[in-house]
Amino acid sequence: MTKRPDNRKPDEIRPMEAEVGVIEQADGSAMFKVGDTIAMAGVYGPTNVLPRHMEDPEKAIIRSYYDLYPFSVPERKRPGPNRRSVELSMVIKNAVLPSIFVKEYPKTQIELYTNIIQANAGTRCAAISAASLALADAGIAMRDIVSSVAVGHYKDQVVVDINKEEEDIADATDIPIAYMPRMKKITLLQLDGKLPNKKMKEVIKLGIKSCEKVYDVQKNALKKKYQNMGE
Ligand code: ADP
Repeated sequence: MTKRPDNRKPDEIRPMEAEVGVIEQADGSAMFKVGDTIAMAGVYGPTNVLPRHMEDPEKAIIRSYYDLYPFSVPERKRPGPNRRSVELSMVIKNAVLPSIFVKEYPKTQIELYTNIIQANAGTRCAAISAASLALADAGIAMRDIVSSVAVGHYKDQVVVDINKEEEDIADATDIPIAYMPRMKKITLLQLDGKLPNKKMKEVIKLGIKSCEKVYDVQKNALKKKYQNMGE
């Protein structure tokens, strides 16, 4: 078995932390940290849709904005959207959408902002885990929480949550997965790199097992804020 640079076991996720209600003025908010990657999410809505012609009489529309802060990466990232952030905004939206009862909110929009304060690989997954918590914190009707982590293929081994050092190794492959643990449904599966066909099952199995670990951290964060509120 090849050793990982930070000595983690193949199925070991970096230390995780989560907190909800971290932004006072947002309708819902959350922080999700995995290793050195920190994502913040804020939800605003449901509100009226502007411009009006974009509203859907049947359901809420979700507007998703993902970005990395300029100081989140080793070399200053130019502020503002770029191709990567536009794509990841869509990826994050598509990953959380199946969990939301959008038909409960016709003619409205729900704005979802995910910002990466510090990046060390796996930012789309941290953003999805934070986004789902922020949506729950905003009281949006949801069928489930979405939990996300990337599985990797590193030096011929299937490992979870590869960090930047592992990702930068030429043949490392990243397979971001998002999963609804109660519904047992995958809402995101991407593959960045090459993966032998026969390893796909192992990847999915480890991805689901790992998302369940993320889910425990998310659940505890929600419990921490809400379990004593009825007293
Ligand atoms: P993900 O963040 O989901 O792994 P990518 O594969 O696009 O998505 O990015 C891999 C990693 O590369 C990021 O997590 C981050 O650590 C790093 N990264 C992304 N954009 C930049 C950038 N502009 N400058 C430096 N590093 C970056």
